[in-house]
Amino acid sequence: MVSAFAPGRVELIGNHTDYNEGYVMAFAANMGVTIQGEARSDETVKLRSKEFGEDAFAISSLNKNVHTPWADYTKGVLIELQKAGAPLSGFEAEITSTLPAGSGMSSSAAIEVATALLVQKLFNFQFGDMEDPVTRMTLAAICRNAENEFVGVKCGILDQATSLMGKKDHAVFLDCREQSVEAIPLHPDLCFVICDTGVKHMLLSSKYNARRTECEEAVRVLQMNKIEVKALRDISSQKIQEYSGLFMDRVFRRAMHVTSENERVLAAREALLRNEIETLGRLMCESHESSREAFENSTQYLDMLVEIARSLPACIGARLTGGGFGGATLSMVYRHDAETFMAELTRQYREKSGKEPLAWIVEASDGAA
Ligand code: ADP
Ligand code: MG
Repeated sequence: MVSAFAPGRVELIGNHTDYNEGYVMAFAANMGVTIQGEARSDETVKLRSKEFGEDAFAISSLNKNVHTPWADYTKGVLIELQKAGAPLSGFEAEITSTLPAGSGMSSSAAIEVATALLVQKLFNFQFGDMEDPVTRMTLAAICRNAENEFVGVKCGILDQATSLMGKKDHAVFLDCREQSVEAIPLHPDLCFVICDTGVKHMLLSSKYNARRTECEEAVRVLQMNKIEVKALRDISSQKIQEYSGLFMDRVFRRAMHVTSENERVLAAREALLRNEIETLGRLMCESHESSREAFENSTQYLDMLVEIARSLPACIGARLTGGGFGGATLSMVYRHDAETFMAELTRQYREKSGKEPLAWIVEASDGAA
């Protein structure tokens, strides 16, 4: 029996910047997906998930099955790996997970990455030295392509890259154009609390893809007006402000979010390197406000959680984390405050929303293995 583990990712700051070729800071969580499996002597793949059920299909004919949409992440990766020349055959595998699904910690990317690592081990191939970040980035791109093409969510590379490149006690600063990563130490006194609204993100792929189209529209408008940009990465929020007359209001606000968020990520990187924790917290709060007002991917429950978090004295910063439209928030506190903060946050949220929140203290951990 062979096993692979891929962690979920926690987006510290950098909301919807990845597919705009921008910057983001994240870390790999101490929660993730394990897939255990063994090769078969035929072409059949048998997949089992304790939470989601079972599916069986031929490795040579990978199609969607409306009854088992959860298997799409694995199938997509198998397709992309075969395109890249991986010699795959039949196998049996069981998925187990400590990540909440649909909460914004990217259980989808964790399944993709764990699938890729499992079949590498089962069928004895590699795209290079797994110690080399370039190899890990290649695998991240394969997994992202699986989600873009087969699953149909036009996500960027953040989730898969973080799951593969995470480092214990470090944040990962990702430059999504250069596809480069820098590990930045997190102060040991800092602690991160994830709190799930209890409302799964709804219609995620259509809303997510709509946001991506709006960002592309902003780039198109700039290019039509002879402003040289390849992506929103190439322009400042101040310039977008100057050119505001060129855009439809909605597209303007999306562009303002992405460009100002890139600036916040760069500032957050500086703050983290200088150990200016209050600054990092303030940037997290500003990031949430920008997601809420300009990008419109927050919800009343995410806002409620952020508002409660910020009213508690222990809170240094709080924001939605991940794609939005439901899911979870991330709060930063000092470690000695974490347990009482988490208890108070969930108590007040339960009382105000009538929903049952789930919360975790998450630790920055090593990438997939
Ligand atoms: P997120 O990535 O934020 O968790 P997504 O909607 O992108 O949310 O991915 C969640 C989906 O991933 C689930 O609906 C399911 O299809 C799949 N998934 C998550 N956990 C498991 C699991 N333990 N077993 C099988 N499929 C899973
Ligand atoms: Mg996902």
